[in-house]
Amino acid sequence: MSVRLTDGQLGHRDRAREFAAASITPWAGEIDQRQSTPEHVLAAMRSSGYLGAALPERWGGGGLDPVSYGLVTEEIGRACSSVRSLMTVHNMAAQAIFRAGDPDQRAELLPRLCTGEQLIAFALTEPNAGSSVDVLETEAVPHGGGYRVNGVKKWTTYGQIADLFLVLAHCDHRPIALVVDRHSDGLTVTPVRDLLGTRGSMPAELRLDDVVVPAARRLGPAGTGTGFVAHTALDHGRASVAWGSTGIIQACLDACVSYTRQRRQGGHALKDYQLVRRHLTDMLVAYTAARALCHRSACLRQDGDPRAVMETSMAKYFAAGAALRAATDAVHLHGANGCGPDYPVGRYLRDATVMGIVEGTAEIHQISLANYAFQRPYRD
Ligand SMILES: Cc1cc2nc3c(=O)[nH]c(=O)nc-3n(C[C@H](O)[C@H](O)[C@H](O)COP(=O)(O)OP(=O)(O)OC[C@H]3O[C@@H](n4cnc5c(N)ncnc54)[C@H](O)[C@@H]3O)c2cc1C
Repeated sequence: MSVRLTDGQLGHRDRAREFAAASITPWAGEIDQRQSTPEHVLAAMRSSGYLGAALPERWGGGGLDPVSYGLVTEEIGRACSSVRSLMTVHNMAAQAIFRAGDPDQRAELLPRLCTGEQLIAFALTEPNAGSSVDVLETEAVPHGGGYRVNGVKKWTTYGQIADLFLVLAHCDHRPIALVVDRHSDGLTVTPVRDLLGTRGSMPAELRLDDVVVPAARRLGPAGTGTGFVAHTALDHGRASVAWGSTGIIQACLDACVSYTRQRRQGGHALKDYQLVRRHLTDMLVAYTAARALCHRSACLRQDGDPRAVMETSMAKYFAAGAALRAATDAVHLHGANGCGPDYPVGRYLRDATVMGIVEGTAEIHQISLANYAFQRPYRD
């Protein structure tokens, strides 16, 4: 593993930075205020290729290596966490289809997901099943060669506009994963509004009343729904949220460097006060450390190293916490302006709060990382 990015990786980062600056950043505030992602931003995401960036070219994906994919995610996350969360959920569900799907499912679903012609959302969480996925209440009963599904899913990111849902359920007490069509009879999609952060991520509650799903839409053998399919998706989601969190820290640093240069109090620019500079130092170190963990876990993923899953958990845990601290400091350094509508740091703080909850709360990562510490395989 080299700390230096390759020319190819730098190229992907630069292109993503230009893309985000032109097609996302100018609308990030509006996306947050209106709680919706406009069609032109969705169209830009589709044509960018980033919705299938991590999937193999054979299926129409970008074939990006994990570091390049992370760098792209960081740039999108730096611009707007809502749009980044579209990348996250769409790519994590598509990855699950790629890893767990059979050749027919890949051929049918992946090309349209890679172009974004179809969007897919990830529906695991339920009113009574959040951190504990072993207690899913959504039930799939064998029915005419397929399944009849009943249950409620909550907080499904971009569920308002997704064409497909990767739904986790249980069948005869065994977890299964089903790809459910939005237009299925018995499926009701209700928008969830007024989130604290990632407010433009168009979440929905799904209600499944006797929804019939063909057996051909079951991913992997019955019994692997949460063990393999959901964990594959969540592992990719965690990597994405980790890199997206480094994007938030970078955005905080950018905003604070600019603001403390121009804002004057007591006859000096804010940047000349040592106590102010200390906050900037903390942000810089947090960014560098979070980025290093993301880079390390992406390199391990690239090498197929079995430690990649726990190292990704570590990166997500650290980067999400660091983003929240950086965003809190960023609001603080902006004073009252940090609390008003004219600067983006308030949005960064609300978005950063969400990072510590999605793809496993901080506490859930603390529990599994402590187990990792006892195993000690993290030592090279
Ligand atoms: C903006 C947003 C977008 C989301 N998008 C999606 C999505 O697209 N698809 C989807 O399926 N879900 C999504 N979620 C749901 C998210 O994955 C869950 O919120 C998360 O898994 C936590 O579950 P919970 O909210 O039920 O909290 P709970 O599990 O009820 O946890 C509440 C608190 O208790 C703690 N806790 C729980 N269990 C333990 C334990 N064993 N030990 C110690 N502490 C514990 C938690 O850490 C937390 O602090 C989204 C959530 C948000 C906020």
